[in-house]
Amino acid sequence: MGEPSLIMTHPFQRTGSLLLLALACAAPAQAWNAEGHAAVGLVAGQNLTPEARKQVIKILGSDDLASIASWMDQLRSAYFHTGPLGDDPEALKFNAEFPKNNTWHYVDLPLGLDYRDFSIKVEGMTEPNAYIALLGMEHDLNDPNASRDQKIVALKFLVHIVEDMHQPMHVSRAEDKGGNSRSQDGAY
Ligand SMILES: [Zn+2]
Repeated sequence: MGEPSLIMTHPFQRTGSLLLLALACAAPAQAWNAEGHAAVGLVAGQNLTPEARKQVIKILGSDDLASIASWMDQLRSAYFHTGPLGDDPEALKFNAEFPKNNTWHYVDLPLGLDYRDFSIKVEGMTEPNAYIALLGMEHDLNDPNASRDQKIVALKFLVHIVEDMHQPMHVSRAEDKGGNSRSQDGAY
């Protein structure tokens, strides 16, 4: 399993990710579990551009984004030795190397920021979060020197993080705890 480098080198990547994040903030509230993640992955897979599909197949061996959409949640569960990756040596190794990857699912921000303040705030963050992780994954996917294993991991993270960013309270106040303490229409 490769090691995603959490650095950002290209300004276009930063702008793209910031827009994703801003869109996530504006998204209506609805959340999903493993089934929901797979459903969103399925729709994403059906809407890939021909070039993106080609690249995804090159990395993954298929364009089945649904099958990788929940991997990041499974990785988090592996911390507690539960779930399908609970005994997976690669997952355990990854968690040992990146013990804060459970924070890559969300970004904590104050409410009511306009786009400018939002951008300044997000770009000034240094603690691990979904935005910084997403930049790292984009970097790895664009890196011609990254191994295929590294790109597979990066793609798994990227799909899940973009999905998470569109969940309610995953780009929100710290006290919302990513929505994990709340129940909304039985969706959690
Ligand atoms: Zn997640």
